[in-house]
Amino acid sequence: MPIFNMDFETMPREALEAIQLRRLQTTLERVYATVPFYKESFKKAGVKPSDIKSLADLKRIPFTVKKDLRDNYPYGMFAVPMENVVRIHASSGTTGLPTVVGYTQRDIKTWSELMARSLAAGGATSNDIVHNAYGYGLFTGGLGVHYGAERLGASVIPVSGGNTKRQIVIMRDFKPTVLTGTPSYILHLAEVAEEMGISFKDLNFKCGIFGAEPWSEDMRSDLEEKLNLKAMDIYGLSEIMGPGVSIECREAQKGLHIFEDHFIAEIIDPETQEPLPYGETGELVFTSITKEAFPIIRYRTRDITSLNPEPCVCGRTHVRMNKVSGRTDDMLIIRGVNVFPSQIESVLMKNKSIQPHYQLVVDRVDNLDTLTVKVELGQDMFSDEIKILQEMEKKISMDIKEYLGVSAKIKLVEPKAIERSQGKAIRVIDNRKS
Ligand SMILES: [Zn+2]
Repeated sequence: MPIFNMDFETMPREALEAIQLRRLQTTLERVYATVPFYKESFKKAGVKPSDIKSLADLKRIPFTVKKDLRDNYPYGMFAVPMENVVRIHASSGTTGLPTVVGYTQRDIKTWSELMARSLAAGGATSNDIVHNAYGYGLFTGGLGVHYGAERLGASVIPVSGGNTKRQIVIMRDFKPTVLTGTPSYILHLAEVAEEMGISFKDLNFKCGIFGAEPWSEDMRSDLEEKLNLKAMDIYGLSEIMGPGVSIECREAQKGLHIFEDHFIAEIIDPETQEPLPYGETGELVFTSITKEAFPIIRYRTRDITSLNPEPCVCGRTHVRMNKVSGRTDDMLIIRGVNVFPSQIESVLMKNKSIQPHYQLVVDRVDNLDTLTVKVELGQDMFSDEIKILQEMEKKISMDIKEYLGVSAKIKLVEPKAIERSQGKAIRVIDNRKS
């Protein structure tokens, strides 16, 4: 498969690190001079941009967290005057004020290039037609993929999320070959197609690039089988840039290459905040080193993963991050046991009678945490025989106990009982917080 930017994506580590250091130093100087928040936080930590003489010195610079962005809402973290900003995006803000990010003309160009690299890594070329089912709007998914597909020279169908039946007709008639969207919405598409009597086997997709929410390896097998395509995980978040921060390559499908000529990734212990070596699991931290409007320094993403520096069969030299297993915010502590929704998903997906639509409900009853897993049965498995259902529930509950060490009550529900998302799925309802 062709690599979009051969020079940078296959650059020897030593040269890559030299570029990283130079770009990092320039970025630190710039944020220190233009963003009051960074000047203050560096001063408080007793460090100046000129103190950073190697990549290892980066750990002397303080972290940036989501609260810092909210405290500087809406434009306080911008490093250029508004006249140079050509685009604004914002996070959904489901848990408070949205975080607002901006892009200069050059930032949009960089982002488009990185999304083009991502699509190419997934197997797309200028001959492809991209069906882009990511939502268009303040969310970075839609426009991020859109500009990247155009940069690659592919044809993009800006279908966005929603209008699901119409999307299926477009898929059949326009013959797109690359599918992009959140995995939960893509599953919904597959379901609606089936209802309409249209099989993905008769469509023309060769690859799918799915992201914006963590999804498990078992979900991959399910998606690949249902959709008759090769599924790649893409990672990004608006605070860092949007989609296209890292991508799995089609050749290995094992870990996401981080575009290290634009971002420096670290893994830290979320408790001690100390950097961890390659291979160890912890919280992912990013520093952007080429962004103009909204540079971000040591941003704590809350995503849990590890980094793998081993050479990859595809020829890219950029380090790979493993699939995100969850977010520190999403981690549920059930009677003292840590569990991520994606781990439950993995256990559920091992059972072939159930569908990948599930919801976790956490309650506190008599001061004890309880976890209920609602999961849908497949159409052909749904039975009125209560005994069969009860046995299946018991079996899944035992599997969860065995794999994850938590007790969960399983509630098998009929097909389509769990609300479908048009974007990111709501996997957890935690009633303990209300
Ligand atoms: Zn690779």
